[in-house]
Amino acid sequence: MSDTPQDVIIGLEVHIQLANLKTKLFCSCSSDYRSAEPNTHVCPICLGLPGSLPVINKKSIEFATRLALALNCKINPKFWFFRKNYFYVDLPKGYQISQYNKAGGKAFADGGKVTIKINSSKKEILLNRIHLEEDPARLVHKGSIRTSPYTLVDYNRSGITLIETVTEPVLSSPAEAREFLNQLKLIVQYTGISDLSLEGTLRVDANISIKGHPRAEVKNITSFKEVESALIYEITRQKHEIKKGKEIMQETRHWDGRVTIPLRTKEFEKDYRYFPEQDLVPIVIKKEFIDEIKDYLPEMPNERVLRLQKQYMLSEFDAENLILDKYIADFYENGVNKDPTFGPDEYKLYCNWLMNNIVGWLNENNKKIDETKLKPSHIIDLISNIKKGNITTKIAKTLIGDMMKGNSISKMIKDKGKKRISEETIIEEYSREVIDENPRIIEDCRKNPKAIEALIGRVMGKTKGQADPKITRKIMIILLRNMRIID
Ligand SMILES: [Zn+2]
Repeated sequence: MSDTPQDVIIGLEVHIQLANLKTKLFCSCSSDYRSAEPNTHVCPICLGLPGSLPVINKKSIEFATRLALALNCKINPKFWFFRKNYFYVDLPKGYQISQYNKAGGKAFADGGKVTIKINSSKKEILLNRIHLEEDPARLVHKGSIRTSPYTLVDYNRSGITLIETVTEPVLSSPAEAREFLNQLKLIVQYTGISDLSLEGTLRVDANISIKGHPRAEVKNITSFKEVESALIYEITRQKHEIKKGKEIMQETRHWDGRVTIPLRTKEFEKDYRYFPEQDLVPIVIKKEFIDEIKDYLPEMPNERVLRLQKQYMLSEFDAENLILDKYIADFYENGVNKDPTFGPDEYKLYCNWLMNNIVGWLNENNKKIDETKLKPSHIIDLISNIKKGNITTKIAKTLIGDMMKGNSISKMIKDKGKKRISEETIIEEYSREVIDENPRIIEDCRKNPKAIEALIGRVMGKTKGQADPKITRKIMIILLRNMRIID
């Protein structure tokens, strides 16, 4: 797409569920609703029954403070919650308890920024604010939303704490938007306030406009990839309309996975009739409270990149890759610090094994590292066995799956007695190499099939006698037959 950076204007509103809170925002119902029967984690408060009174969850203020500090926002020392009025089944009381930064109201925190890297140049994405609000109930449709004959409502989600991060309209491409979301996700992971890999923890509203024209809002996009696709579609659509001389409507649209479709003309703020929530006292956040949280705030991803480079002499590229998942970075540091003999070479080797082979295996098998039996000592053991020449890198790679089950390379070598390589795939790999490297012997085989012995010998040589000769012969015959060298 040929967007010049200046003509596309994107702003994002990112709703994140604070999934690591045990209870909801204004009641003590459990927020662990994902595996629960519908409508079992409810009480008069989160059902919005008349006369029920909300009480603020103190921990949610602490979590919001952590995020605000991590994003460099300015926390407001005193604020009220506001009622955002609208009438819909997902909120039976007729309003959502949220925050409002007008009419005397304040957000939880103002400003802030997230630094992103696009094509190796850095850009600061400025934030407008972050604020707290309650999640409405979850609506369940049979099949698709458009054809379902009914709607079911699950109030387990009603009242779950949401934190909304609002950017300034400063993003200028779908790729920038995606990178911003990646960085935000990382920061959230490092603060420990939520696990964004859980279904439904993240929803994005995107405001998109072409400079000089009204904006459209695409609501409720639920993955980063989808955000990028929806933005690409919407930018193309708006540019097309403008080219045809049509006027862009200020409206709310829905992303159905392929296209955006109009939902309704956008509500204006006055439609929500915001007013202060009188059932909750104003929240006062003391400086001592903020300082205490600051003291315990974990190291953030950008700080960690710098430290990893310095402490383990890693390249910027390696350090940036490692921190992309906090648990992987933790695993790395646990490992390399276990062996006092490790120096720069081992730091790098360990990083390579972890990032290339272990993470590759995790992605392929759709697992997280703590769902396997891999221990940092397994990688240390692997590196040391390669160094001593007990095993080749090539073979070690084929044993990653066993390692993930908690088997060390040393144990595997011991169990196999003379380290006999009998895995057919490995022998096949070596056999193919030998065939490639020995065109003259292959020619000999055409005339005299007994020349195959020379090839088997080469495989034995390559594996230092570890390959099983019977299996090697069988594989070599199959390979040569497939090449029509022998009958
Ligand atoms: Zn409740």
